Amino acid sequence: MARYTGPVCRLCRREGVKLYLKGERCYSDKCAIDRRGYAPGQHGQGRRKQSEYGIQLREKQKARRTYGVLEKQFRHYYEEANRQHGVTGEVLLQLLERRLDNVVYRLGYAASRAEARQLVRHGHFTVNGRRVDIPSYQLKEGDVVAVREKSLESPRLKELVETADSRTVPAWLDRDSATASGKVLRIPTRDEIDTPVQEQMIVELYSR
Ligand code: SF4
Repeated sequence: MARYTGPVCRLCRREGVKLYLKGERCYSDKCAIDRRGYAPGQHGQGRRKQSEYGIQLREKQKARRTYGVLEKQFRHYYEEANRQHGVTGEVLLQLLERRLDNVVYRLGYAASRAEARQLVRHGHFTVNGRRVDIPSYQLKEGDVVAVREKSLESPRLKELVETADSRTVPAWLDRDSATASGKVLRIPTRDEIDTPVQEQMIVELYSR
């Protein structure tokens, strides 16, 4: 599956918020939002009057960029959320949260979702004991994600597992860093998802 390969700090500056796309750098004083907290490009510092459509579009782009999903796949998530029971916007975020790469990131076994995606792609994780290398793999309640035993020999993974406890885990996940694993306790509720998007705007955009 394709992914965005351009400059990522530019995406945060466009959205006007930290999307935490670069791992450790996002928490340092090198963060581009802290240094140049205005939109990129020639007119980035100009006045901006946003239409309703503009606001909806920004919310959608913010969500899409946060989870590292391209437009076509993001629309699939919306369509799937629309099919399922429940509030479409909330279901949409739940689907995005339950991606394997996101769960690896949330468990603290990667510094960013982009790194999580790469580690999953390289086959460093198992789900219920089986190797899964699909970043978009949908996890369900009760699934156990773990770092492959052999992968613990990799210095980067070893470091990530050792430092994982410094990261807060959302209540819907349970991390066991002693076994380099984590469990999906339940489907997250909206208040357990800290992604700063107004999902209702995304629903309005797609139902235009
Ligand atoms: Fe965004 Fe991180 Fe870059 Fe800051 S350092 S602008 S949070 S990707």
